Amino acid sequence: MEAKLRNYINGVWCEEDGEYLDVMNPSTGELLTKVPVTSGKRVEEAIDAAAAAFQSWKSTSMSQRVEYLFKLHSALEARKEELAQVIALDQAKHIKDARGEVARAIQLVETSCALPLLVRGDKIVINEDVDGEIVREPVGVIGSLAPFNFPALVFGWFVPFAIGCGNTLVFKASEQSPVFMQKIAEILDEIGLPKGVFNLVNGAKTVAETMLDSRKIQAMTFVGSTRVGKIIAEGCAKTGKKAMVLAGAKNTLIVAEDANIDAFIENFINACYGAAGQRCMAGANVVVTAGIYDKVKERMLKASKNVNVGDALDEAVFMGPVISEESIKRIHSYIELGVEEGCTLLLDGRHLKLPEKNKKGYFVGPTILEGATADMRVVKEEIFGPVVTLIKADCFREGIKIINNSEYGNGGAIFTESGKTAQIFLRDTNSGMLGVNVGVPASMPYLPFGGTKGSLLGSQIKAQGMDSVEFFTKRKVATIRFYGDDNKIETSDSDTCCIIK
Ligand code: NAD
Repeated sequence: MEAKLRNYINGVWCEEDGEYLDVMNPSTGELLTKVPVTSGKRVEEAIDAAAAAFQSWKSTSMSQRVEYLFKLHSALEARKEELAQVIALDQAKHIKDARGEVARAIQLVETSCALPLLVRGDKIVINEDVDGEIVREPVGVIGSLAPFNFPALVFGWFVPFAIGCGNTLVFKASEQSPVFMQKIAEILDEIGLPKGVFNLVNGAKTVAETMLDSRKIQAMTFVGSTRVGKIIAEGCAKTGKKAMVLAGAKNTLIVAEDANIDAFIENFINACYGAAGQRCMAGANVVVTAGIYDKVKERMLKASKNVNVGDALDEAVFMGPVISEESIKRIHSYIELGVEEGCTLLLDGRHLKLPEKNKKGYFVGPTILEGATADMRVVKEEIFGPVVTLIKADCFREGIKIINNSEYGNGGAIFTESGKTAQIFLRDTNSGMLGVNVGVPASMPYLPFGGTKGSLLGSQIKAQGMDSVEFFTKRKVATIRFYGDDNKIETSDSDTCCIIK
């Protein structure tokens, strides 16, 4: 890997002067590369490049724009293993999860290839002489900010749909996992995307602030914590920008009395420990009804102890490390808090035995805090690690209450064989993505992805599906009238046809 990462501005790879941040390999705690902290001035140059490219990109026909998306798709397919490997290095998502994430990004690009069928206006005949017409147009220059935990998924949510709809883009990868987007910029360069349509600037806060301040950016997409999401949503509101803001989460899994326990255990392991609990759709609270509590608890404990933790590139491992030393500190402090709040530490992931090469890595093993209650901070706050709170309930409805009282509203799932219980759960639960016997109910690329409450801020438009079209286009409405006499208009007999490129 290169010693220093670069920006990609106006079709040119740029090595930046000034400050660089270390990018670590969380599996080993070793330095992987360095990422530039791009100055505001350089970010403005990237915004200028995107603004300059906008007019001609907007005028490029939809079919030509989609040809680039097909080329992007082929390139991603050809390099998918390499892309998964880089995610397993800087983000240290386990290689099998990383392959899954890249596969999802490819599906998103596939879905974006249908944009010619999806970006539609509408026409209403008001009366014989007057039409009302809704036309969809690209929004302009988009500023995008990504979180560390889903570099490929977030690329797939924003880049293909934004450029496919005719927008240009300035994209900032997470400073903690920036390598995947270097590869994407390489690919977009190789397929000959016109200069300025996609620009990559690295860094942290300054990049976001420059984007927020810029009058040349018409819309921003953000995925990350609710704390930063609020800053972005407020900044966009102040400067009149459209804002897609997908933020933090705290998801609850409910195990009803009649649940299929084998199926629950399999889903629990994936939902709570997949990607080391660093998913916005991760299971974090598990509410189990009293009649099956002891049995489910024993099974959860046994399965959690069997989770194989280790290097993200080791195929035999299930769960890799968390992203940073700071994350370790935060997760440890939440474990301590859980005990202070009155939980029993049923399983403690803080003292793992690891091979020599991983001793400096950022590992926490599966952890279960038993005896949690709805009012505890460990139940309410996002821990973002492999820490599960276990809550005993008299009725599955107590789980619904926890979800509905949460500051967040991203996901939630129930495990039941009863249609009626599932119906009540789906009807009464105020969360954006719900699962019935599905632990990670992350929606498919052609369906909207996003939450409610503190998990979805800004313009209240989600990622994926038709929401992407809604976000990456704006509507104009025309009222059209022509005066004239039908009988005086000549019609031609010639049947001409032209091919629009
Ligand atoms: P984060 O909020 O720390 O960072 C997100 C982005 O904002 C990064 O690019 C970062 O550089 C930038 N940033 C950080 N501080 C900033 C500031 N003060 N001003 C402007 N920009 C700033 O999030 P993270 O730790 O990278 O990602 C994890 C979070 O993302 C979790 O809360 C998770 O739930 C959330 N997430 C949500 C979804 C969703 O769909 N709702 C998906 C993935 C991740």
